[in-house]
Amino acid sequence: MTGNTSENKGMGQDAQPAWYAGGLDHVWLPYAQMKTASPPLAVTATCGCRIILADGHELIDGIASWWTACHGYNHPHIRAAVERQLAQMPHVMFGGMAHEPGLMLARRLTALLAPADLDRVFFSDSGSVAVEVALKMAVQYWRNRGIPGRGRIVSFKGGYHGDTTGAMAVSDPEGNFHTVFRGLLPRQLVVDLPTDDASAAAFEAILAERADEVAAIIVEPSVQGAGGMRFHEALTLRILRAVADRYELLLIFDEIFTGFGRTGAMFALQDAGVVPDIVTLSKALTGGTLPLAATIASRKVFEAFWSDDPAKALMHGPTFMANALACAAANASLDLFEREPRLDQVAKIAAALRQGLEPCRAIPGVKDVRIKGAIGVVEFDRIENLNALRQRFIAQGVFIRPFGSIVYLTPAFTIAEDELATLTGAIRRVLSQRA
Ligand SMILES: *Cc1c(COP(=O)(O)O)cnc(C)c1O
Repeated sequence: MTGNTSENKGMGQDAQPAWYAGGLDHVWLPYAQMKTASPPLAVTATCGCRIILADGHELIDGIASWWTACHGYNHPHIRAAVERQLAQMPHVMFGGMAHEPGLMLARRLTALLAPADLDRVFFSDSGSVAVEVALKMAVQYWRNRGIPGRGRIVSFKGGYHGDTTGAMAVSDPEGNFHTVFRGLLPRQLVVDLPTDDASAAAFEAILAERADEVAAIIVEPSVQGAGGMRFHEALTLRILRAVADRYELLLIFDEIFTGFGRTGAMFALQDAGVVPDIVTLSKALTGGTLPLAATIASRKVFEAFWSDDPAKALMHGPTFMANALACAAANASLDLFEREPRLDQVAKIAAALRQGLEPCRAIPGVKDVRIKGAIGVVEFDRIENLNALRQRFIAQGVFIRPFGSIVYLTPAFTIAEDELATLTGAIRRVLSQRA
């Protein structure tokens, strides 16, 4: 692999372990132009908010592995729960069988979402699949009720719902992720997010014309994450709920990014006081330990499938559905949310991010600085060389991974004050030397 920059020479690329050189030519990395991307870091261990590299260097992690590791890495409570489960039963199929960690997790997730009547949990193994399941539930909801024609989904520009075909089709088609697959995708209605009276009227006009072909509206509540970390107010979600009710559409909240405290509330839907008909969860569900996702339906949705007719069943069943190890990790993660002051920690992180990143407004080319919960964003008009910028953060001893036109932090909620200060300091330093 080529593309070594002068900056990472000092990181001991020559002294890499044998597994690294032996395997690197056989992996295909995510979202990467393999010819020009900087070689990935050789990581041998993680601990708390630190990533330990094969050459002995340590990086402070600003991203928490795509915001999954909300309690930091290797949390002893989660590790112990997974070890116990491993000894007893790592996995058994969920078709025709059930197990304690899965049923306990279903009960706890629905209890956390109460008083919303989001009451039925369908487990899967990744966020994209959880979205696929939500879309299938929404479309079949109408079929099962004998109402034909309602097969389309309304979604929003700036949105991101995953990389599988159905999820791509409801993500922003102009984003960097999926443009090339346009011809493959079912045509959905991707429209502007209503944020005020004028855009609400425009949104309603689209529905007034086409509601009878629409099954559901899907949105990332409060924060559109991987599409650019864009925030919106509770007003937007109230508009969506009102329009969905007026035209009898289902409303799906994709809380895969926002769930489990990231925005400051346990779930963004609670902060906004708006209840959807279906919600999707993943990312921080297992505290960053194992892959797991959930699609949670309201009673109203579930009841449309409850029948003596086998054709009205939901036809979906991932092989590793409700994997017992992953469910044990998720239950342990929920224990930590109960026992430790995670949401207070998020509030403190928000204050520190504000203080640490606000000065970036003065840097030439910076368009916006925004903070919500444990999410800090510095947005540029454009970023010319993402690769080089990423390498300069690594040279500062931090792992920060800008994309599109933004530099962002989504740290673990357990991050120490001085570690967070190191992250924001590195952003200020690297960005002000950028020009
Ligand atoms: C990450 C993400 C997904 C996709 O999850 P995967 O586990 O990567 O398939 C879907 N929706 C949102 C909001 C996400 O942040």
